[in-house]
Amino acid sequence: MLVVMKAQATQEEIQAVCEHIEQLGFRAHPLPGAQRTAIGITGNQGEVDRGDLEELSGVAEVIRVSKPYKLASRDVKQEDTVIRFAGTDASIGGQDLAIIAGPCSIESREQAFAIAEQVAASGAQFFRGGAYKPRTSPYAFQGLGLEALRIMSEVRECFGLRIVTEAIDNESLDLVAEWADVVQIGARNMQNYSLLKRAGQLRKPVLIKRGLSATLEEFLMSAEYVMSEGNYEVILCERGVRTFTDHTRNTLDLSIIPSVRRVSHLPILVDPSHGTGKRESVLPMARAAVAAGADGIIVEVHDHPEKALSDGPQSIYPGQFASMMNELEQIAPVVGRKLPRGIHAKAARA
Ligand code: PEP
Ligand code: MN
Repeated sequence: MLVVMKAQATQEEIQAVCEHIEQLGFRAHPLPGAQRTAIGITGNQGEVDRGDLEELSGVAEVIRVSKPYKLASRDVKQEDTVIRFAGTDASIGGQDLAIIAGPCSIESREQAFAIAEQVAASGAQFFRGGAYKPRTSPYAFQGLGLEALRIMSEVRECFGLRIVTEAIDNESLDLVAEWADVVQIGARNMQNYSLLKRAGQLRKPVLIKRGLSATLEEFLMSAEYVMSEGNYEVILCERGVRTFTDHTRNTLDLSIIPSVRRVSHLPILVDPSHGTGKRESVLPMARAAVAAGADGIIVEVHDHPEKALSDGPQSIYPGQFASMMNELEQIAPVVGRKLPRGIHAKAARA
């Protein structure tokens, strides 16, 4: 259920409706919009008696949300969600495209700094890098853990880049939440509901990657898990799904972008690195993603991909990243977007 407040409803009226909902034993989720505030109700198994609610001061109407995802739905919030990062000009979900770049794994301080310097100089606002890696083989490099988080924190200090890194379980979630600006939940964990619930208790943006065989509804239900716990800063990421093709590692399903945008207010990014698994396919698919309406790109960049400890074959060179930025800058205005760069790029060059 959804309580739509009148445009002129006061903060006190919104508060009173939330309290009423909580007294009924449900959870209230006030989601302010440009025109009016909507209050999502969760925790109810069946219908909530709308009679009482409709009588409350400041309430315009009470609507039943028919979709299984409620808080992630555009029915609850019409405007696109824009996630901002205090003290920076970086954002995810607005008119500006968000660009997240960096290696698959943090391998050393030297490696991280060399790559960060170059992606910052090209205008990325976010630096990615795995500290905890979900690897198919238990014998493969598992990540540097806390040491990598410390290195990324230095990268933030030095280059002004916001840090995006993955939590793979409850233990790493606590550490990642302490050090990162955006907590990534990987494709393999998209349906790890206890991890999603814990991520929902954080007050940090959560980036959820689409599971290898997840439908749109399953993907949005994962976002709903995080939001149902009170964390509304969720970013979706298409990273390719498993199909029968053998020319790419995964099939990048760009057609999910317009579908997400139609039914949800949450930002959707595209990862052309895992989505293709092939360096030469990354740039074309990044261009296509922006053309299709993605809110940004998360891409793997490595200065020596042949020596990378993970995902070298799909990592682009810093020079290719610079070309990608130039190309996206030209495509962005065609679809009503902008590629902001400048502050970080200038700072990195200075
Ligand atoms: C990654 O971003 O390096 C990663 C492991 O991604 P995914 O969860 O999409 O496989
Ligand atoms: Mn990777």
